[in-house]
This record gives sequence, C-alpha cells and structure tokens, in this order.
Amino acid sequence: MLRLPIKRALISALLANIFFTSALCFAKEPVNLAISKQQVVRYHDSGEYDKDIKNVVNDAMRYLKIRMTRPFPQDKKPAIVLDIDETSLSNYADMKRLDFGGTIQEIRADEDKGEDPVIKPTLKLYRFAKDNHITVFFITGRFEEERGTTENNLRKVGYDSWEKLILRDGEYRTKPAAVYKTAMRKQLSEQGYDIILNMGDQKSDLAGGYADKTFKLPNPYYLIP
Ligand SMILES: [Mg+2]
Repeated sequence: MLRLPIKRALISALLANIFFTSALCFAKEPVNLAISKQQVVRYHDSGEYDKDIKNVVNDAMRYLKIRMTRPFPQDKKPAIVLDIDETSLSNYADMKRLDFGGTIQEIRADEDKGEDPVIKPTLKLYRFAKDNHITVFFITGRFEEERGTTENNLRKVGYDSWEKLILRDGEYRTKPAAVYKTAMRKQLSEQGYDIILNMGDQKSDLAGGYADKTFKLPNPYYLIP
C-alpha cells in the first residue's frame, strides 16, 4: 500500500504527463512567415491600414474637441504627445523594400535619409492642436544624433513647429521604450504640462501613465516592447 504523499506525487506526475502529451498533440504550426508578410502587405495596400489609422485619429480628434469645451486649470498647460515612426511619419516603403526585416544599421540608414512620408490624419490632429493653442511634444525612440534629419523630415511634410522633440539619449539610450517614454512624460508633467492625449503605434508608447487619454494606432509590421 502506497503512503498518501507518494500516491499524490504519482498522481501529479501522471497528470503533468497527460497535460504535456496532449499539449504536444494539439501544438499548431504557426502561420508561415511568408504568408504573414503577404497579409500585412494586403492590409496596407487594400487601404484597411489607412482606414484604421483614420478611425483612431477621428476618435482622438473628437476627444480633443470635447476637452476644448472644458476650462483648463490655471496652473496647467494642455499638451499632446505624439510618437514619430508609424504615428507621424511612415516607414512602410522602406520596411517593404527590406522585406520587413533588415539590420539595425539598414533601418537607421533609411530613417536618416529623412524622406519618410507623412501620416496624414496625424498631421490633421497636430494642426488642430496647434490651432487651439495646445502644446505639441514629439517623443521618439530615435536617437539624439538623428535630431537633424528627423527635424528636417518633420518640417518637410508639414509638422512645422513643436515645443520639444525628445529623442533617446544618456541613460535612456538602452532603457526599454516604455521606461524611457514614461520618464519623459513625467518630466513634462512636472514642468506643469497636462498631457491630455498621448498617441502612438506601440503599447510601449502609451504604457506608464502621465497622460489623460491614450490612442493606439495599428502597426502589424514590428513590435517595440
Ligand atoms: Mg512608433
């Protein structure tokens, strides 16, 4: 006769064995990478991507309009935060040319050409904010040494001025995006800004607070944790 603890251990081992065996039986082959790439190209080229961006920005615009009807506290300056890549500027042509891969160096070289086209709905939101005396900040994962080309690119497509363009530098060069971007928003809040809206294409653009409301744009092309 087996003692009770041994019996329990044997039953646990048996159950674990059944679980892993069945998990292996039901393991499903992921979608083939080549098919996934075709799907994202179709999503872009069909106009669905643009439509989804437009819907999110329309929601953001509606929200801003409502906020404009309410008085702001005297000691707070209303501001919005915009991300750059896949939020204000599009890298789609470069991504497709690199077959949605490429080395860091190749991706950086493309960014540094300073020829990324505008994401039009975001430009419209930007102009609405500026027309209504809402301060605009750009916070990007690009590095400080990319400031010149990034500024030129933004101006070339219509983002003509901003309060601050914040790029990664110093201790934040190697920090996760969410940590860096949250710290930057915290600094702005401490300087008296009320970030009423924060818009980006990655969850890491939006996590961490220091914004009244966040808006997530679609991006099936890459992930920045
Ligand atoms: Mg982005």
